[in-house]
Amino acid sequence: MAYKGSCHCGKIAYEVEGELKTVMSCNCSLCEKKGALLWFVPRGQFKLLTPESGAATYTFNKHVIKHRFCETCGIHPFAYGVDPKGNEMAAINLRCVDGIDLGALHPQKFDGRSL
Ligand SMILES: [Zn+2]
Repeated sequence: MAYKGSCHCGKIAYEVEGELKTVMSCNCSLCEKKGALLWFVPRGQFKLLTPESGAATYTFNKHVIKHRFCETCGIHPFAYGVDPKGNEMAAINLRCVDGIDLGALHPQKFDGRSL
């Protein structure tokens, strides 16, 4: 299944390939503020359709996760990170993906605060 997502103004757009199974609601200080619902996919399943330079980068705490956001509209549509085994991952903010019934998702709690 292929999904398309973007920021609000369209300066950042992407495609994600995969089966949407596990959705995470993270309690870290950033995710709580932005209300992100996260779907983690291997980096190879994520394709940025707009220039890398169009997405600004924010990091905090251990600076491991690169939170990418749009400087024009302020939306955070995705992040880059690595999983515990060291595999490169993309964290998709499902609130920015088209055609998702957000109310039908059953997010699992992710304890990002303790990382
Ligand atoms: Zn934007």
